[in-house]
Amino acid sequence: METGKRVLAFGTHPDDIEIGCGGTEALLAAKGYEITHVILTSGEAGSDKTPPWELGPIREKEAIEAAKVIGAGNVEFLRYPDGLTGFTREMKVDIIRIVRRLKPHTLFIHERNESSLGHQVASELVLEAVQAGSGPWFQEAGGGPWSPEIILGYEVWHPLGDCGLAVDISATLETKIKALACHRSQTAAVRYDEAVRGFARWRGVMSLSGGDAEVFEVIKASQNLLFGSFR
Ligand SMILES: [Zn+2]
Repeated sequence: METGKRVLAFGTHPDDIEIGCGGTEALLAAKGYEITHVILTSGEAGSDKTPPWELGPIREKEAIEAAKVIGAGNVEFLRYPDGLTGFTREMKVDIIRIVRRLKPHTLFIHERNESSLGHQVASELVLEAVQAGSGPWFQEAGGGPWSPEIILGYEVWHPLGDCGLAVDISATLETKIKALACHRSQTAAVRYDEAVRGFARWRGVMSLSGGDAEVFEVIKASQNLLFGSFR
């Protein structure tokens, strides 16, 4: 697989990636992109009924199932404790190692001004690691320097302020909703399908795509590549 067709998405919890960029990923998967999801915590604290040691494995299975629906063939779990409040150098090395191994063309991560602390920490961790991994530093992570061409920040339920890119996901909205339905441990309490439909429609109308949309903070992009890749 040529590196120009590789996508790497990081999420704090097992459902974040589908919520934030599932529709866009499904479009990219249909174009032949190879997509990997890396999930930082297994979301084991996400229930007041199921104990964490049971919920973690359940949510990992749901994440694998959901990724398959989207067309993301590879899911990796870092199993950091749920409820991230900071990160260590070792965690940074983990991320650098993954980025250097997979050499993604496009990288998705939580947008930088996230209101959830766990999401915010993940965003900072991944972006710092990407920066560090683009140079000769951190040799303990192995591999050579690598820098993705495109880095996009996605939103999870809370609207981001600075959207540099809107992607019309009308063609893949149903796929996104099907993927989210795999997260049964979460949808039992919250109607993700209704929330996603409303959110995508609102984004579509306000970004003038006319249909349903996902929007992104453009953290890094070459204009030509950006439009060439997503059209
Ligand atoms: Zn989350």
